[in-house]
Amino acid sequence: MTAHMYDVLIAGGGPAGLSAALVLGRARRTVLVVDDDKPRNAVVKHSHGFLTRDGIEPMKLRQIAKEQISKYQQVEFEKDCIDSIEKEGSLFLSYTKSGKAVYSRRVIIATGMKDELPDIDGLDEVYGKSVFTCPYCDGWEHQDQPLAVFGEGKKLLKFAAIIWNWSKDLIVFTNGRSPVSDEDRRDIQNHGIRLVETPVKELVSEKGMLQSVVLENGETISRKYGFIQNSGQHQATNIPGNLGIQTTRKGGYETIGHGLTEMKGLFVVGDAKNAFTSLIGAAGEGYEAGVAMDHDMIHEDWEKVTHR
Ligand SMILES: Cc1cc2nc3c(=O)[nH]c(=O)nc-3n(C[C@H](O)[C@H](O)[C@H](O)COP(=O)(O)OP(=O)(O)OC[C@H]3O[C@@H](n4cnc5c(N)ncnc54)[C@H](O)[C@@H]3O)c2cc1C
Repeated sequence: MTAHMYDVLIAGGGPAGLSAALVLGRARRTVLVVDDDKPRNAVVKHSHGFLTRDGIEPMKLRQIAKEQISKYQQVEFEKDCIDSIEKEGSLFLSYTKSGKAVYSRRVIIATGMKDELPDIDGLDEVYGKSVFTCPYCDGWEHQDQPLAVFGEGKKLLKFAAIIWNWSKDLIVFTNGRSPVSDEDRRDIQNHGIRLVETPVKELVSEKGMLQSVVLENGETISRKYGFIQNSGQHQATNIPGNLGIQTTRKGGYETIGHGLTEMKGLFVVGDAKNAFTSLIGAAGEGYEAGVAMDHDMIHEDWEKVTHR
């Protein structure tokens, strides 16, 4: 098998990886972006909060980015999946699922996270269409609407309070899972919010639009939209873990500055580092890591000439 050589291999072509590719292309680096095209926010029609691109379709954002990066011809794209990465001396050797082998001086992991949804019948149908996770992403569009909030545990009160900022017409469903403390129950109810602790049987929807929440006791409660409290996520890839990189309490890979990990030359950016970064935050991190690793490579090349 012939191995290809690049300055930088970027695993993941979301906002984090593409932003790194742009700055590295402009720094005249040879870059390969390998992406298997499964963005975390693929379920939503529109994404919000990215300066100059508010309301853009998730795939359109990527398409525009790729069009602009195509000007920098040393940046190549491949639709594939990075299967494994090993260190060989000062280089990284990465293998793709389709069997390509790639050597690179630096690696950026920008592979994002995968969400874990609570086990509620009918949730898959409405997720990203009328039930969302992040009010900063989708709250404005559903302000003052009859909202359902699904959540449990110690963070429920805080989550309900956040969603209350967007609509006072709230019903909180705990799905009967973990008991709410008397203090939190009083606080929620004092804000005019109905708290439903009976388990949810199913969500009824039409073409992805929530109609009602049906409880196990037979009651049907009409709701138009909803927000789910974070119920966990996991890394899209455990490649950094296999290379010995630890994870943080939130499940992101640990870094020590500008996305650099404890392993020289290995960077992690975006959701893979933070669990949830936002589109613009992920793009910012990709840029920062790109500049940091470029400085590092310039220094390396300069020193080689100095010590010749
Ligand atoms: C439902 C939902 C709605 C959201 N809405 C918004 C919003 O409106 N505004 C906002 O700012 N943020 C929003 N977010 C958050 C936002 O999607 C993320 O913070 C952002 O996408 C993180 O960017 P990233 O580049 O780190 O990861 P991603 O965008 O997830 O990109 C990672 C890429 O890596 C690829 N990949 C994974 N493993 C491999 C591998 N082994 N080899 C090759 N490629 C791989 C994936 O296919 C994917 O294309 C939303 C999130 C969700 C879940």
